Amino acid sequence: MDRQAKAVVCREWGQPVQVETITVGGPKRDEITIKIAACGVCHSDLSATTGKIPYPPPLVLGHEAAGVVVEVGEGVTDFKEGDHVVSSFISMCGKCRQCVRGRPVLCENARKAMFNLPDGTVRTRDASGEPLNVFGACGVMAEFATLHVDNCVKVDDTVPMQNAALVSCAVMTGVGAVFNTARLEPGSRAAVFGIGGVGLNAIQGCVTAGAEMIVAVDNNPRKLEMAKEFGATHTVNINEVEDAAKAVKKLTGGVDYAFECVGAGPVVEQAYKSLGRGGTAVVVGVADPKDKTSLTTLSLPADERTLKGSWLGSARPQHDFPRILGLYKAGKLKLDELVTRTYPIEEAAQAFDDMVAGKNARGVIVFETPVA
Ligand code: NAD
Ligand code: ZN
Repeated sequence: MDRQAKAVVCREWGQPVQVETITVGGPKRDEITIKIAACGVCHSDLSATTGKIPYPPPLVLGHEAAGVVVEVGEGVTDFKEGDHVVSSFISMCGKCRQCVRGRPVLCENARKAMFNLPDGTVRTRDASGEPLNVFGACGVMAEFATLHVDNCVKVDDTVPMQNAALVSCAVMTGVGAVFNTARLEPGSRAAVFGIGGVGLNAIQGCVTAGAEMIVAVDNNPRKLEMAKEFGATHTVNINEVEDAAKAVKKLTGGVDYAFECVGAGPVVEQAYKSLGRGGTAVVVGVADPKDKTSLTTLSLPADERTLKGSWLGSARPQHDFPRILGLYKAGKLKLDELVTRTYPIEEAAQAFDDMVAGKNARGVIVFETPVA
């Protein structure tokens, strides 16, 4: 059935987000409708409002949400009404070479569902009946959303919704970059560039994986304080040093792993330069498509360095989201502390402004308590 929902929409790049009442159509085959309880505000949502991530507006934002299933479409067997689920912005067909070898974030058909559902259409319409695109096949910064089942993961219903929501992007991306992409060995030295929701999770991933030294690099002293609370052993404020990479090298002798969680060529260069011999730089930040990075070619073979990327922490969502929630329940990952502030949907624009101002570890839009 059709449902009316307040939703956070980008109408035009460079303009503040708007809250609109939209219509969310019921689920078609292999889809479910979710009553959203909480949705984190990620820098990628912000990048979609500026055109840095060039998803075409009008676009319903949000890809980091948790909620309750309220309706299931034909053929759905793995979800039922009342299940707690989180969104997953990677679309995976389950059949291509990448999916079958266990790398669903690289699904060869994923690009068919960047800003629509995998069948190429959307369930979202504005007040005048015009279709609205959806961020990453999700569009979950809304009271209701209809998603393909492959973009949903069932989660433990004892975990608070706002914590579960963050697992679907910030936590999976940061922790997964360490666990899955880098496969950091205990005793390693690491640096994390950019201490937002993603970078803080890269830090706690390094802690859990047993890193010896973890250097946090940012330009915001408040973020560097948060980094220490999440387990950073050292901090570098880029405004207080001539060269951040040299500062990291001075502290560590050169790191084994550097995680770039900003999304800018010059920061990737800094991360790469901070490596010691045999080191690996992992690019997590999402840069503008035209952005470029340069590095000294010889350092790749002569120092056996590696430069690699990480998409949603190289996740296998159905396996990794519950695994991460298990670590939280076991007291080995901080999720409560990640939620600095919650906002009602009417204050969504403020939540985006607060992200730009670097006020929050994560700001989360919370909706009224969902009814199963
Ligand atoms: P955020 O805005 O919460 O944090 C970014 C941090 O970077 C801020 O603390 C800011 O002060 C810091 N920063 C800015 N310029 C810097 C510089 N030159 N050097 C050091 N620090 C600097 O963002 P977030 O939500 O944590 O996202 C971080 C990046 O990760 C974004 O590019 C986002 O699009 C990307 N992202 C990637 C994936 C993925 O799958 N690879 C998933 C989610 C987000
Ligand atoms: Zn995100």
